[in-house]
Amino acid sequence: MLEIKNLHARIAEDGTEIIRGLNLTVKAGEVAAIMGPNGSGKSTLSYILSGREDYEVTEGDILYNGESILELDPAERASKGIFLAFQYPVEIPGVATMQFLKVAMNEQRKARGEEELTTPEFMRRVKEAAGELKIDPTMLRRPLNVGFSGGEKKRAEILQMALLEPKLCVLDETDSGLDIDALKIVADGVNALKSPDRAVIVITHYQRLLEYIVPDTVHVLYKGQVIRSGDKNLALELEANGYADIIGEAA
Ligand code: ADP
Ligand code: MG
Ligand code: MG
Repeated sequence: MLEIKNLHARIAEDGTEIIRGLNLTVKAGEVAAIMGPNGSGKSTLSYILSGREDYEVTEGDILYNGESILELDPAERASKGIFLAFQYPVEIPGVATMQFLKVAMNEQRKARGEEELTTPEFMRRVKEAAGELKIDPTMLRRPLNVGFSGGEKKRAEILQMALLEPKLCVLDETDSGLDIDALKIVADGVNALKSPDRAVIVITHYQRLLEYIVPDTVHVLYKGQVIRSGDKNLALELEANGYADIIGEAA
């Protein structure tokens, strides 16, 4: 589903190379974890996958279902079923969460050539998904992410993911500050979404999240490269020994 080949990317503004020859393959049905020390380029990779203009790809390619997505803008990527959840969710003052969800869902349907949802159908879907995530209906009337607690932001993010039914989900999880409830919200959301035609990439600094989301594959990112890949045992090894051994071997 996703094939990243010898990717090199730099910050557009000053030309600093952050991603330095990254290779990664993720198959449909797979849950892949990307781990790595702070500053290794995990968040940068998620921004590049989303199509942010602050970064320039200078070499290599990103194939999604066999086709390069490098020339696609963020909206086109989203309409093809790529969903990104960022480490720092964007606040949207003045737009109720409910309204945001409606626009996002209908934009995506339009891009796929599908008709807009009727209001009752939209409401039915939101109520159902919100209920499953134990989201208080008053939260849906508040502006998206504005003044939301960490847990509420996570719930809003997973709600968007559930409603947009993406094919490739990339979740960049905060390096710190995620309490156990928030971890469980993310894990339950991801686990509910698991299916043979969908892939999930979970980016995380800590092994703890992976106690709740059991990954099929684990990849260690360091200085903009995948330096080691393995199965879930690699995450346990990292938890026990830290990154130093693996970094030393790669060097
Ligand atoms: P991680 O998510 O693995 O902690 P990041 O992708 O956030 O790592 O950052 C990788 C490196 O790139 C860091 O050294 C960071 O300071 C730098 N970096 C990323 N984006 C920018 C930017 N827009 N401007 C300056 N430095 C950046
Ligand atoms: Mg970081
Ligand atoms: Mg990060």
